[in-house]
Amino acid sequence: MSHMSEEKKSGRFIVPGEKIGVIEEFIPDKGTYVKDGVIYSSNIGYLLIDSVSRRVSVYPLTRKVCFPRVGSIVVGHVVNIQSAMAFIRIIKVGNRFPSGFFTGVLHISDIGEEFIENIFDALKLGDLVRAKVISEANRMFHLSTKGEKMGVILALCSKCGSALKLKYREKGRKREKNLYCEDCGNTESRKIASDYGLGNL
Ligand SMILES: [Zn+2]
Repeated sequence: MSHMSEEKKSGRFIVPGEKIGVIEEFIPDKGTYVKDGVIYSSNIGYLLIDSVSRRVSVYPLTRKVCFPRVGSIVVGHVVNIQSAMAFIRIIKVGNRFPSGFFTGVLHISDIGEEFIENIFDALKLGDLVRAKVISEANRMFHLSTKGEKMGVILALCSKCGSALKLKYREKGRKREKNLYCEDCGNTESRKIASDYGLGNL
């Protein structure tokens, strides 16, 4: 590995439009632009400051660095739920950990094959979810949890906070999956992934 890439790694992760500094303190270089004396990043990548020359540059992300894209399978926590959508903080992309912070949005119509009337029957705050990136429209990662392997892979009891266990129950002729709390007896529903609770990320 070259010395340059060592330096690159030490830099802070930075996104386009992010303020780097002012022209009085740094000399703008690759991957930057100046507006009204302020230096901004024009790249998504890593900030590199040459301490001798005071040159600042932003090295673009390479293939080694991982970020979500259409088709990626991601894992994340539900950090916010509104009536028609949930926001998911992505902690894993495929088998790797993402370079930076990414949030995905999961619309109620993309949660499952069946119509979901109340989003809270399918997801709750803090749930760990596996999803697929289906679009990057409007610079947002749009997610889907349709399919057996997608959905909640770990959830906590909303009454006592214990990890919920998988439980089957008969509903007419259908066998339905549910989540059950062994500590307080609470039963909750989710859009459950087929490997719920097995610890697969
Ligand atoms: Zn409980």
